[in-house]
Amino acid sequence: MAERKRIVVVGGGVAGSIIAKSFDSEADVTLIDPKDYFEIPYAALRCTVEPKFAERSIVKHTEYLKKAKLVQSSAQSVSDSEVVAVSGDRIPYDFLVVCTGSTYKGPATKAERIKEFEADYEKVKAAESILIIGGGPVGVELAGEIVVDFPTKKVTLIQSGDRLIDFLGPKASEKTLKWLQSRNVEVILNDRIELDGLAGPIYTTSKGQTIKADAHFVCVGKRVGSSWLRDSELSSLLDDQGRLKVDANLRVEGKKNVFACGDIANTVEIKQGFLAGKQAAVVTENIKKLSKDPKGSKLAVYTPLKAPFGIVSLGRSAGVAQLPFATIIGWLPGTLKSKDLFVGKSRKGLGLAS
Ligand SMILES: Cc1cc2nc3c(=O)[nH]c(=O)nc-3n(C[C@H](O)[C@H](O)[C@H](O)COP(=O)(O)OP(=O)(O)OC[C@H]3O[C@@H](n4cnc5c(N)ncnc54)[C@H](O)[C@@H]3O)c2cc1C
Repeated sequence: MAERKRIVVVGGGVAGSIIAKSFDSEADVTLIDPKDYFEIPYAALRCTVEPKFAERSIVKHTEYLKKAKLVQSSAQSVSDSEVVAVSGDRIPYDFLVVCTGSTYKGPATKAERIKEFEADYEKVKAAESILIIGGGPVGVELAGEIVVDFPTKKVTLIQSGDRLIDFLGPKASEKTLKWLQSRNVEVILNDRIELDGLAGPIYTTSKGQTIKADAHFVCVGKRVGSSWLRDSELSSLLDDQGRLKVDANLRVEGKKNVFACGDIANTVEIKQGFLAGKQAAVVTENIKKLSKDPKGSKLAVYTPLKAPFGIVSLGRSAGVAQLPFATIIGWLPGTLKSKDLFVGKSRKGLGLAS
């Protein structure tokens, strides 16, 4: 880059960490994130049954960023020239990238996050019976981790819809249901548990079924992390789901120097980390191009995923995958994901030893 640009990245998750790293040495980067770490999300459920796994899957921002400035705070508002953080810092920008994916209520430090996983592990170990609320990828992966590592525990999984992992097609749902049932997981579909005032050991579903469990885990969807934009200059550019409207180059509509990527961008596709990574590459390329030529006549275009695609791990060696040509369950998807859960790959992407 000819002249050093001020690049502000809001949110140090999958997309934000990659973008901040990409410009670390060639621009004046500021990363704004309430945590001192990036957590590789794909590994979270393994960390629940093996807290040591988090030593690699939680990466302090200072491990991969050598020059960038970290403002450890939530962003509070944004104007056309600066971002204001809750800490009071005001950070001016030439380019802004909004990557605040999903709301995050976890602790601020890596050490505290590892303690959370240790507490979850003790909770799993101590319980004879466990209720998992939510049959999306998070609930299913947690069930898989528990039944593989603790096969004698009684696991119940409740899902409000009529099938599991419904971001993938019906074949993936059916195969996953059979896999879990073959490991004695009781799967309850089309029913729900009220989350307000949730307490065991007896849980009653909306349809009146009672479930006895020593412990429970709530694995329902997170909300988009855009509430901080509601009173800002960008508020009119949020869609009805709270996502930022972006153009084909991942610029926020009508803005020349503001990008959004990852779960907060309103690209029409399922929201997944590997797509956040692809979007981060497009944004990086476009900022480089605009830095050289502000007219930006040949910007890179992002093409959203057309058909659902994904791998859900089922414990340490199995998985279910919906690929373009087939839906498969067992060791092959397990080989692709379940052993290392993309931790080595994600770390390498940040320039770290796997
Ligand atoms: C348990 C789990 C497992 C998953 N497994 C897979 C998988 O196997 N494959 C896959 O492709 N996808 C998976 N996903 C989905 C994937 O994690 C998300 O799609 C991905 O994390 C989105 O990346 P992102 O950068 O947009 O947001 P995130 O990774 O959610 O990062 C958002 C960042 O913004 C920060 N932030 C939020 N608000 C503010 C604010 N106001 N100011 C500053 N910072 C803020 C947060 O602290 C966080 O660091 C999984 C998700 C979860 C929860």
